Amino acid sequence: MFWNSQTSGKVDLAFTDREGGVSHGPWGSLNLGTSNGDDPALVDSNLARVAEALGVRRLVRMTQVHGASAAWVEDVAPGEIPEADVLLSRTPGVGLLVRVADCTPVVIAATDESLVAVVHCGRAGLLAGVVPAAVDELRAHGATALQAWVGPRACGRCYELPQEMVDDVAQTFPDARSTTSWGTPAVDVGAGVLSRLAALDVQTTDLAADECTIEDERWFSYRRQGQDSGRFGAVAVIR
Ligand SMILES: [Zn+2]
Repeated sequence: MFWNSQTSGKVDLAFTDREGGVSHGPWGSLNLGTSNGDDPALVDSNLARVAEALGVRRLVRMTQVHGASAAWVEDVAPGEIPEADVLLSRTPGVGLLVRVADCTPVVIAATDESLVAVVHCGRAGLLAGVVPAAVDELRAHGATALQAWVGPRACGRCYELPQEMVDDVAQTFPDARSTTSWGTPAVDVGAGVLSRLAALDVQTTDLAADECTIEDERWFSYRRQGQDSGRFGAVAVIR
């Protein structure tokens, strides 16, 4: 269920893999996505399993739109799913979930001040400024020293894009310019996320430098599986 889980100060965080759920086929088995064709009852069951494993009474997720909007769980009504790509909390016991299949999942925390955020960042989110949006929001609420953990995503040797899109990203994020293993233009979104976090003075751990969601079937991958791909995720909770 958890590919990586750890505690840092008052924050617990974990990155899921495909194991330990009840979904079948392209969603097998721990699909956390709700708009990809999987049976909603099975997805609910998967989400409940993750919440139980984390020991959280409530797991809040977001409708991710590749933007830079942020939502605090304190403003989210029970059962509400805010449209956002940054979800933040200053409340103990509430789990935050970000869901991905090739995009980059990030957890950012100020463990001393009990503040945490999960971030969904793909190519569009990187350009929209979703990473600084999360950092700004945490700092505006009193965060001092920030730490981040970056999870599994499509690697720069696989994430092929049209030349114009690559040029567009590289204008702001030169580190994100890449080439596929077959020699075509590509973007390394993870590299862009890491360079932006460094520029923002966030102490960052790249948990997945050697992982690639497209190459490795332990992950769900939109590029590899298409429309029906499941979603894995990152979860974070303040204790
Ligand atoms: Zn790859």
